Amino acid sequence: MKAVRVGLCGLGTVGGGVFNVLSRNRELINARANRDVQIVHVGARRDNPAVHTAAVRVSRDIFSVVRDPEVDIVVELIGGTTVAKDLVLQAIQNGKHVVTANKALIAHHGAEIFAAAHKKGVTVAFEAAVAGAIPVIKSLREGLAANRIEWLAGIINGTTNFILTEMSEKGRAFDDVLKEAQALGYAEADPTFDVEGIDAAHKLVILASIAFGIPLEVEKIYTEGITRLDIRDVNFAKELGYRIRHLGIARRSEKGIELRVHPTLIPQRQLIANVSGVMNAVMVMGDASGPTLYNGRGAGGEPTASAVIADIVDVARQLEVKLDQRVPPLGVVSQAIRARPILSIDEIVSEYYLRITAREKPGVLSQISKILSDAGISIEAVIQKEVQAGESTVPLILLTSRIQEKVLRTAVRQIEVSGVAEGSVVTIRVETLDK
Ligand code: NAP
Repeated sequence: MKAVRVGLCGLGTVGGGVFNVLSRNRELINARANRDVQIVHVGARRDNPAVHTAAVRVSRDIFSVVRDPEVDIVVELIGGTTVAKDLVLQAIQNGKHVVTANKALIAHHGAEIFAAAHKKGVTVAFEAAVAGAIPVIKSLREGLAANRIEWLAGIINGTTNFILTEMSEKGRAFDDVLKEAQALGYAEADPTFDVEGIDAAHKLVILASIAFGIPLEVEKIYTEGITRLDIRDVNFAKELGYRIRHLGIARRSEKGIELRVHPTLIPQRQLIANVSGVMNAVMVMGDASGPTLYNGRGAGGEPTASAVIADIVDVARQLEVKLDQRVPPLGVVSQAIRARPILSIDEIVSEYYLRITAREKPGVLSQISKILSDAGISIEAVIQKEVQAGESTVPLILLTSRIQEKVLRTAVRQIEVSGVAEGSVVTIRVETLDK
């Protein structure tokens, strides 16, 4: 059996997982790759006590891996977009295939990296960049190749899902759960990328590019995190039969493509609404397939290693296949990638959850209903609580019909200045994910 020689850059959580799973399942993996998959060189600034690298060459300078003539495939698992970009581009220049789990790198520099790889006739694979162990890139690119994709919606950040699940199931406050997530190692010391939705936006742009054949334009994604979410809304959503999840949504419409990341109410009857804790899930609607759902571990050393090694096996299987016969990184050749208008958040169409702090006086509900109906918005559900003794306001919860966001915002502003409500109206988008 011929060998395929792997150079591993980074020996942290995922790098360690790749090393250990490849050692443990070596026979199985070799049979599937029809090659002897060998790690021949590891680049790591320090040792990882969970990994026994004694039989392998280890360099403290990771760039020596991409220069090593013995290496066929460079696996980039250092993260970030500066050194990692140099490393990947140098690997490509040296004629190496590249496997990476780095969503930030692909989201920001994918086009440049794919172009360089095409020029050199090498493959860049990145299944592990989205949703960890879940083979969602392969499913979109290959399994669903027959379909016009209408939309996809994903829980693609385990940290935010863990926080939302704890808030919903245990009634805990955001800050309290975030601290626990950090202690458990789910959230970074600086959790901004996760809780502000940036990590999810990186993953969404990759999925959307493959689904719709559009360029990777991460800066055009509307991104809203979960930091302003109030436990009261989590509870009212539950009363209405919904769960709040942080979703990445990409949807095709006549005017263009919606690309957005934000907290979303989803009906509890949808399987994806019941994806809890650090798990990830992506739902894809194809015109022929109908809805499909992919669920699994979105992070962690071995789950992510599972996707990295699947890419190594894919590259190994295709080593002798001509470039134009390999599956292109975004599912179609670069000349077939077409920019489409990305809709601003004002232009999207959605249902909405509104929480209005209504003043306790007669006719408030009818005034609010009038403002909404004058704007063409119907009310689909209402929760109106009893006024508590000594209170002058009462929460009024409404679910609206589908409407353009711009129209909804104007109506909400009218409610806010009409004297029937105190403070601002809380607005959260609702997705039924039916069609
Ligand atoms: P990690 O545990 O922090 O490991 C990163 C490794 O890269 C460490 O060994 C680190 O060395 C090394 N490294 C970083 N910068 C380096 C540099 N300039 N020169 C040499 N070595 C360098 O990170 P990870 O969680 O394994 O993540 C790796 C990649 O996988 C990231 O792109 C991440 O987004 C992606 N990913 C991770 C997960 C997950 O569950 N962890 C899931 C999906 C995708 P030091 O220890 O010396 O800093």
